[in-house]
Parts: sequence; C-alpha cells; structure tokens
Amino acid sequence: MHTAYSADALTNPKALVESIYANPSVKAVAITDHNTMDGYYKVRKLAEVYKGEILIIPGVELRTQLGDLIALGIEELPVKPWTVENIIDFTREREGITVVPHPYRAPGLGDLATNYNVDAIEVLNGSTSSFLNEMAEKLAKAMNLPGVAGSDAHTLNQLFTVYTEVEVSDLSIHAVLKSIKNGAVRAVSTRDSIHF
Ligand SMILES: [Zn+2]
Repeated sequence: MHTAYSADALTNPKALVESIYANPSVKAVAITDHNTMDGYYKVRKLAEVYKGEILIIPGVELRTQLGDLIALGIEELPVKPWTVENIIDFTREREGITVVPHPYRAPGLGDLATNYNVDAIEVLNGSTSSFLNEMAEKLAKAMNLPGVAGSDAHTLNQLFTVYTEVEVSDLSIHAVLKSIKNGAVRAVSTRDSIHF
C-alpha cells in the first residue's frame, strides 16, 4: 500500500497505522511508495508503540523505463540507474524479492516481465480491472511464478480490498518473503467482483 509520501497518494501514515491495527485479520503490510522509502520509515516508527503485533514489510515501487517493479525486503533504495536488472540484483543480494505489480495496467511491465528473473507476479491488484488482473494471472502461470494480491491503496478506503494469504512458520519478514517466493500464497479478493 501507498502513503502520502507517494506523490499520487493521500494516506496519512498515522491514520494508516491506526487503520491496520484496528483490523484484527491483518498480520502484515508492505509499504510500497513510489520511488521512496520515507513512508515505510514513518510507518515503522509509528507502529513501534504497538509492540510489533503487525509485521511492517519494507518495500518500494520503482519506476523503470519499462514499467513499475516492486522490491520487498530492502531497507534502502537501489543504486541508480533503476533498470529492471539492477533492481532485481540489488534486491536479491539483500535477500529481498521482486514483484511485478499490475503488469497490464500502465505503467506495467506487461509481457516484458517474461524477460526477467522476478520472484512473483501481482495477479490481483485492487485498482485494476478484473480483465487485466486475469491477464496477470495468465502471465504468472506462463512464467510458473507465484501470484500475489496488492490493494495498491492510495487512500484509506482502498485498504483491505484484496489481500495475500501467506503460509508461514513464524511472522518474520524473512519467513513471509520466503513463502511468497516458494508459492505458499493465495491472492484473495474481499469483493465478489471488481467492477471497472
Ligand atoms: Zn504502480
């Protein structure tokens, strides 16, 4: 999800933290602002008073020349230039994973994703039509990669529209990322269908 540290998002980090801690089914959130990790740092700081009941996964959605790419599990921005290869290498060296968000909604990587060694495909994006999400599902199958869901929430009322169920042995960033990579995940929509 995004915070107001993304130029196109409105979510106040404090309101975001209050909202996720008010939802008993939420166990982990990934903060993936556009091209900055400042929102993640702010959310992590604000979440400290809750004594770690919810895992805050560091992330960032980076704009490459070819499309968006999400890195999870890194604590600092990759060194530039932000090419898809560089981001994948930087993230892997830090035991993070890369996810292709909304591959068929601009600015998505689309079929170009097949050229890269990414770890997962976002097959259910909360701000993408069901048709384009279905295409993403097909891409994940074709690449034999796990499919995850991302609310892609830019405002508070877009939270919890879709989510990813992850099977983990313990609630740690390492365990969650490992399970995503291994495909122990399920993308779930809280709506009967996404109409737009
Ligand atoms: Zn995006």
